[in-house]
Amino acid sequence: MRLLLVEDEPTLRAQLRAGLVEAGYAVDEAANGQDALHLGQTEPFDAVVLDLGLPVLDGLSVLRRWRAEGHSMPVLILTARDAWHDKVTGIDAGADDYLAKPFHLEELLARVRALIRRAQGLAAPVLQCGALSLDTRSGRVTSNGQPVTVTSHEYRLLSYLMHRPGHVVSRTELTEHLYAQDFDRDSNTIEVFIGRLRKKLPPDTIETVRGMGYRLVGAACP
Ligand code: CA
Repeated sequence: MRLLLVEDEPTLRAQLRAGLVEAGYAVDEAANGQDALHLGQTEPFDAVVLDLGLPVLDGLSVLRRWRAEGHSMPVLILTARDAWHDKVTGIDAGADDYLAKPFHLEELLARVRALIRRAQGLAAPVLQCGALSLDTRSGRVTSNGQPVTVTSHEYRLLSYLMHRPGHVVSRTELTEHLYAQDFDRDSNTIEVFIGRLRKKLPPDTIETVRGMGYRLVGAACP
């Protein structure tokens, strides 16, 4: 999953970035509203963390522009403490959730997880597909109840597929959602990780749809 982090305060931005990367997200950053606006218009983010008080262009204006242009990714706004009216204005401008500063990183991570699930129509924190189960809170994967040990890269890939059960996901889509813009992207890497995951999962869990991409299949896959 790929996030856009918009925060002008360098120390806070670095802390949040570190926490989000540690949690397994690919993170692009913007330090002002103009850069944020452009990135949100041009890159496919799974969620955005958007500070409202920003230089060049304020966060509310950025959010209103995105929504007016039809960009529907989940957006969590960061507001100043006690600025209750910012929460109301922000939500009315198209924000999906908010956090008042200061906040605990754990709360931000929980809210981001929920926003990403909800955007895919998934309510429960444990994703199920056939024999596979993935706990988005702990990062644990099981197959028929048995733990499956996956690397962080394999987890990110599997998590993305499990957020889109039954859908065909192209290699391009996977590349765009698993790596930040500055990452040296190579779609062959995806093939390598798919191959490694297949060795760890029950046979035929990840189907190759020729010329289109991959699909997670299994009984009880929505
Ligand atoms: Ca700010």
